Amino acid sequence: MPQQIIPNLYRLPIPLPGNPLKELNAYLIRGKDRCLLVDTGFRQDPCRQALFSQLKELGLAPGDVDVLLTHLHSDHAGLAPEAAGEKGTIFVSAIDRPSLDCTKEQRAAWWEQMTRRFQLEGFPAELLSDMEHTNPARSMAPPEGGRYESLVDGQVLEAGGFRLRALLMPGHTPGQMCFWVEGEGLLLTGDHVLFDITPNITAWPEMPDSLGSYLESLDRIRNYVPVQSLPGHRESGDLVRRVDELKEHHRLRLEEAYQVVKAHPGAGAYELAGYMTWKIRASSWEEFPVAQKWFAVGECMSHLDHLMAQGRIACKTEDGLSRYQAL
Ligand SMILES: [Zn+2]
Ligand SMILES: [Zn+2]
Repeated sequence: MPQQIIPNLYRLPIPLPGNPLKELNAYLIRGKDRCLLVDTGFRQDPCRQALFSQLKELGLAPGDVDVLLTHLHSDHAGLAPEAAGEKGTIFVSAIDRPSLDCTKEQRAAWWEQMTRRFQLEGFPAELLSDMEHTNPARSMAPPEGGRYESLVDGQVLEAGGFRLRALLMPGHTPGQMCFWVEGEGLLLTGDHVLFDITPNITAWPEMPDSLGSYLESLDRIRNYVPVQSLPGHRESGDLVRRVDELKEHHRLRLEEAYQVVKAHPGAGAYELAGYMTWKIRASSWEEFPVAQKWFAVGECMSHLDHLMAQGRIACKTEDGLSRYQAL
């Protein structure tokens, strides 16, 4: 059921069945002429039903809204073209836009580039080919088509009498954006800051040091002190306190990654991730479900990239595999 946050601004909870994120928060800004939907859910039936039934409760049909995306991930963007219909515009940061506003072939080429890095890190080829079919980021992404428009850092979007200032916060994705609702003290954080889960930080072909970018973006968002944060998933909370917790979390994880590299010189990220601690119930690294391995190795890579940027470790490629060494 839509939950009113302030007049003309609603939270629409969208279930993500079988996904550890559990729930996406979409938001709806009601305007006199057009309404603006912030994020949508995966392109799958449970999300579709939850989204469109809640829009209906607010008197809206598919195509009655423009869509604003906080970032490119499929749990946010999957239903954007359906929700915007033929007349609606889909606003997204200029940096994340090419991943959505592209042909099937361009998307496949991007995934190939991403997959190559995982191969280089020793991720087994047979598991990577399983991922091609089971990764929701791929199977529930928006289809080709949709009228996209780019947003840049600092740009203001007006909707329903509100002024939303786009704040570019690279890290979780290269073009992740938060939106500051001017005069209301509200901050749409997307997945940049989540309150009861840690946003996933992975390696991106477009970002040499995604964790470094993320930590800088945390410092930048800390300058905003909202009355209320509106995150992309689950519960809200105190922004400044949460930013400090996330920074401390990554400081400890970096230290752990460094110790693991030191103890296992010459290993790649796939092997190193197996030595790190993870909050998942599996008796061994081998038993991890493949999707969880993908996230774990991605997170490990982002920490290794940052340790390299700090000059604490080095990497050389031997026989087509990355081999890390503490300095
Ligand atoms: Zn995300
Ligand atoms: Zn998300």
